[in-house]
Amino acid sequence: MLNGKTAVITGGSRGIGKAISFKLASLGADIAVICSSSVAAAEAVCAQCTEKYGVKARAYVCDVSSFNAAKATVAQIKADFGTVHILVNNAGITRDGLVAMMKEEDYDAVLNTNLKGAFNMIRHCAGMFIRNKEGCIINITSVSGMMGNAGQVNYSASKAGLIGLTKSVAKELAPKGVRCNAVAPGFIKTDMTESQSDSPLLAAIPLGRMGDVEEVAQAVAYLAEASYVTGEVLRVDGGIAM
Ligand code: NAP
Repeated sequence: MLNGKTAVITGGSRGIGKAISFKLASLGADIAVICSSSVAAAEAVCAQCTEKYGVKARAYVCDVSSFNAAKATVAQIKADFGTVHILVNNAGITRDGLVAMMKEEDYDAVLNTNLKGAFNMIRHCAGMFIRNKEGCIINITSVSGMMGNAGQVNYSASKAGLIGLTKSVAKELAPKGVRCNAVAPGFIKTDMTESQSDSPLLAAIPLGRMGDVEEVAQAVAYLAEASYVTGEVLRVDGGIAM
């Protein structure tokens, strides 16, 4: 159970992040939900967490790719909740395209949100975790970062980078009592994969179907409580990347 813990979930307004918010709230954690723009959706997630599970929940608008915006938001969350115990770096975007034609701004936007965004949040929470001698970071990467994926050089690079970042943070902060792990989803039914429902890659999933957001949230909940697990990358992918 996560009673008495505060969890920050970036990108918690929709899709996988929304399911993670509900799951951690169901285990008793207070919830800070970050979104980039869909504040009504984030507030609705918070209202449901409070109504259903009796936890404290608040929504924040923050572009995690901005170092200073992330800093201000972490400071506001600390003021509202007292401290943070669990950080889930889930916010992510795609700007797919072939490498020979990819626009520089599409490469930068994906790296800045998916990889630098996670760094920014970890950077601004790390001092709190070290002082508390306790902290749990869970980064949502992707099987694209493990296998590569044609048309996704920017996304795959950001997600592979996130795996390296996860392992380095795990090694650096383990002596301070802070764990850092990653979850690598495969094809999960969300807004992000709406346009890929006829992808030929789906036929290569050994379990023969796309995953549900709750199945990713279950892995996050496991890592939130797995006190002897750090530096791990847990695939939730129906077997596609084995
Ligand atoms: P989604 O439905 O598109 O939701 C993305 C979430 O990220 C939204 O809450 C969005 O906020 C937020 N976000 C985007 N840019 C942001 C920024 N700059 N600052 C703060 N928040 C930002 O995506 P999803 O499918 O649930 O994916 C969630 C994570 O899982 C991503 O990291 C994705 O790469 C990863 N993943 C997904 C799949 C899949 O099959 N769906 C597979 C592997 C990995 P707004 O609502 O305000 O836009």
